[in-house]
Amino acid sequence: MLDVAIVGAGPTGSRAAYRLALQGYSVAVLEKRPAAGLKTCCTGIISQECISRFNIPVEVILQQVRSASLFSPSGNSIRIMRPEVQACVVNRSAFDHHLAATAQNQGVNYLFNTAVESLEIKVDRVVLSCRSTGAVFTLDAKFVILACGFNTPLVRKSGFGLSRYFTTGVQAEVQTKELKEVEIYFGNCIAPGFFAWLVPTQNGRALAGLMSHQSAGFHLRNWLQELAEKGKIEPADHNILYSGIPMYPLSRTFQDRVLVLGDAAGQVKPTTGGGIYFGMLCADIAADTLHKAQTTRALKAKTLLSYEREWRRLLQAELRNEYLARRAYQFINDHQIDSLFVELKESQVVESILNGENVSFDNHGGLLLKTLRRVLTSRVKRIFQ
Ligand SMILES: Cc1cc2nc3c(=O)[nH]c(=O)nc-3n(C[C@H](O)[C@H](O)[C@H](O)COP(=O)(O)OP(=O)(O)OC[C@H]3O[C@@H](n4cnc5c(N)ncnc54)[C@H](O)[C@@H]3O)c2cc1C
Repeated sequence: MLDVAIVGAGPTGSRAAYRLALQGYSVAVLEKRPAAGLKTCCTGIISQECISRFNIPVEVILQQVRSASLFSPSGNSIRIMRPEVQACVVNRSAFDHHLAATAQNQGVNYLFNTAVESLEIKVDRVVLSCRSTGAVFTLDAKFVILACGFNTPLVRKSGFGLSRYFTTGVQAEVQTKELKEVEIYFGNCIAPGFFAWLVPTQNGRALAGLMSHQSAGFHLRNWLQELAEKGKIEPADHNILYSGIPMYPLSRTFQDRVLVLGDAAGQVKPTTGGGIYFGMLCADIAADTLHKAQTTRALKAKTLLSYEREWRRLLQAELRNEYLARRAYQFINDHQIDSLFVELKESQVVESILNGENVSFDNHGGLLLKTLRRVLTSRVKRIFQ
């Protein structure tokens, strides 16, 4: 019997696998796709903090990000820049490969083309029902981590439900003309309630994407056409990829012998939809919790509660602020976004953000929420004047 079976060879599953194998456990990762790194609907922007913390090698980094230009609906722009690298764009496929190879080198067994269809929790083990190229078999593990991404039937079937707030992310690879830095576009005309991005990768290529609750593909197609008409990108028949993005964590991420991790648990930043760094931090917490549980031989939910306590202690305040900022942003119209840009440019807010020690790529929810509250309060005041 395995010590731990992990479902999903994304960044969170591979990180948890590596960490557990390092502690001496027998670990298998079960992945329904033929290899790691086949999820391509991701821009791959992660903070410098994430790069350093998880020793991400330069080979998987496509770009370093020090600056970005933000555009309001009417085209007003703000450029933010810091001398130090703030974030990197990683080749998402190579990144996942690297994490899987690191875990394999530590002795983790990867079973590709293997979909886990259901779990049966017994007193002393979990029985996983798997399907691999038509054959059905079972696998026993003392413990299971579900790191199988957002909104998978397995997580719902295992009684964890679905995040109560989510959206759709869409993206296409484009050929740009002189795109020098990350560009972020705001406005309900482009991405209602969210934003769109153009992120340079290599050799003039870039990733263009947006998030939207409705008709995300339609909005992206319109925007790509607009960018092509403006000469910003080469016109082409773009291949648009879609994926769901949770914006709120599951209410419970553990039960007897089972933990839920990463996008599956909703450990994702609601402002940007970025889930790699927070998910990998939670992977370490999951592995450490299991280690403690194994050493005390107490695998019951009561013991595993500490996983949820720990990751919420680390992330809950930021996730909550970002969630509230995200909801508040949806009440702001294009005119107000434009006014906000003017206000930000005229005031010293941008400078204080750039120089502020408590604001970072991964920690910005509180500041955003404060700014949006101010905009909404002045809007309500104007209504009653
Ligand atoms: C358009 C877009 C852009 C994004 N850009 C960024 C970004 O720039 N930065 C960032 O941090 N995040 C970004 N994200 C989010 C990021 O992609 C996710 O947060 C991240 O992939 C989550 O990793 P994970 O390991 O939890 O799950 P995943 O990467 O989704 O991996 C889950 C794995 O489980 C496998 N699986 C599923 N079900 C089963 C099953 N039953 N049996 C076996 N295997 C199974 C899947 O095949 C998959 O390989 C973006 C998302 C979108 C949609």
